[in-house]
Amino acid sequence: MRKKVIAGNWKMNKLASECGEFLNSILTEINTDDKDVIICPTYVSLPSVINITKGTNVKTGAQNAHYETSGAYTGEVSCEMLKDIGCEYVIIGHSERRKYFAETDETVSLKVKKAYETGLVPIMCIGESLEEREEGKAFDVLSAQITNALRPLDIDEKLIVAYEPIWAIGTGKTATDEQAQEACAFVRKTLNTLFGDVSEKIRVLYGGSVNAKNISSLMQMPDIDGALVGGASLKTEFIQLVNYDK
Ligand code: PEP
Repeated sequence: MRKKVIAGNWKMNKLASECGEFLNSILTEINTDDKDVIICPTYVSLPSVINITKGTNVKTGAQNAHYETSGAYTGEVSCEMLKDIGCEYVIIGHSERRKYFAETDETVSLKVKKAYETGLVPIMCIGESLEEREEGKAFDVLSAQITNALRPLDIDEKLIVAYEPIWAIGTGKTATDEQAQEACAFVRKTLNTLFGDVSEKIRVLYGGSVNAKNISSLMQMPDIDGALVGGASLKTEFIQLVNYDK
C-alpha cells in the first residue's frame, strides 16, 4: 500500500513574513496521519517554513536545486545547501522550469542523481503539452521524459514522480480522473520496464488544477498516489484538500 502524498508548490508566492500566519492557520487543521504533506516555498522562505513546521508531520521541499555541490553558479542553490538547513524534498523539472529556464531531461537527470546522493527526495515532474496530447503523442513524451532522465540512474522507491499535463497547470482545466489514471498507470508501467518491481512502490502524483472539489475522486484512482498542488496550496482551501473525503 503506497502512502499518499500531498505536496504544495507555492511557486514564486508569499513573502517570508507571510508564511507564519498562513501555516499557523492550517497546521492544526490538516490531517497528516495517513499521508505525507509537503510544503515547497521559495528558497528565502524555506528556513522559516522549516522552523514553523518543526515538531509537526509536515515536511518541506524546495522547488529546484542545482546539480553541482558548490562553485561559480551565480544565483543557484545546491542540494547540499538545502539538506544543510533541514529541507527534505526537492521538486525537479517542473514544466515552468523547463519552459522558462531551459531545463532539459539531461539536467533533470543530473539533478535527480544529485538529490539522491545528498539524501533529498526528488519529486520529478513530467507532462505533455496540449498540442502533444491532441496529436496523440502524450505517452511518447512521457516515456521519453522518464527514460532520458532516469535510465542512467540507480533509483529506488523513494523517488516521487509527478505527472503534470502542462495544459492543466494553473488553467483550472483538470484532467479527468480517467485521463489522470491512464497517464499515471503508464508512468508506472514505464518505470517497471526500466527498474522492475520497485515501480510498485514508487509514488506517482497527479498535478494540474487540483482543488478541494476534485481531489477526492482523483485519489480513488488506483495509480494516483497523491497530488502536486499549485494555486490551491496558497489558500486555506488546502485544509479541505489535504483532508479529502475517502
Ligand atoms: C503546479 O504548479 O505544479 C500545479 C499543478 O499548479 P496548479 O495546481 O495551480 O495547476
